[in-house]
Amino acid sequence: MSCDRQAEELFFFMEGVKRLLVITGAGCSTGSGISDYRDAKGSWKIAPPIEHQDFLRSEKARKRYWLRSQLGFPSFRNAKPNQAHVVLAGLEEKGLVEAVVTQNVDRLHQKAGQQKVIDLHGRLDQVRCLDCGQISLRAEIQDWLELNNDLTQIQSFELRPDGDASIDDPDLSSFQEPNCVKCGGTLQPDVVFFGGSVPQVISQETQDLVDSSDGVLVIGTSLMAFSSFRLVRKAHQRGVPIASLNLGVTRADDLLDKKIVGDCVQVLGLLGRKFL
Ligand SMILES: [Zn+2]
Repeated sequence: MSCDRQAEELFFFMEGVKRLLVITGAGCSTGSGISDYRDAKGSWKIAPPIEHQDFLRSEKARKRYWLRSQLGFPSFRNAKPNQAHVVLAGLEEKGLVEAVVTQNVDRLHQKAGQQKVIDLHGRLDQVRCLDCGQISLRAEIQDWLELNNDLTQIQSFELRPDGDASIDDPDLSSFQEPNCVKCGGTLQPDVVFFGGSVPQVISQETQDLVDSSDGVLVIGTSLMAFSSFRLVRKAHQRGVPIASLNLGVTRADDLLDKKIVGDCVQVLGLLGRKFL
């Protein structure tokens, strides 16, 4: 199917749904220079991200995380929304999108002007104290990290999707881990790590959105994370139409009424030019 036809079909699907819930993933942000964890078959294409339990239990794992994050955060912070984000915000303005639930932690939907967005897996621009709950800005933690850890000798690293960087065996002996300014406790980025769970209030909010929607559109995700797959499964149980726009397979392929295999920046960009 031509990209033109894909954009048309997608738009017709959206037009036919009164309250459309959109679920997005990494494929939406690759066009902004933030790489994807999984390949077209939904398998890991790079080493899986840090696990929640490792972060909690091991000081070494935390230092390793913060070192990589110190390297990766500047590019992550500077990422700009692309056509996929901009067109989705435009579709919301036209009343064609009710809400977006995103697995991305980059806040690019919000930067593009999307009004109703739920960050299913949290947000990387905030840091949470695991002991007192204090929220601080990741940018302030970055200033602290750069003041206390000189990493200028590390030149070669690869940017990863969750805002950290991939480097082999970093020297952690003198690395300083940031702590809470209020209580000295352990800090964690305000995101749901692999193996962690979505906060109850967010989980409830997303399920309520599924219950009040008349259709679901999945964009740029293989739905390998159970937290997002279960929303699509719930929509299927309610009998509302479900479509996807993704480059490869999704875990919900059996549940889809319409499957468009394509690049979301290209297809949404074209849709925006034709219909918005
Ligand atoms: Zn604290």
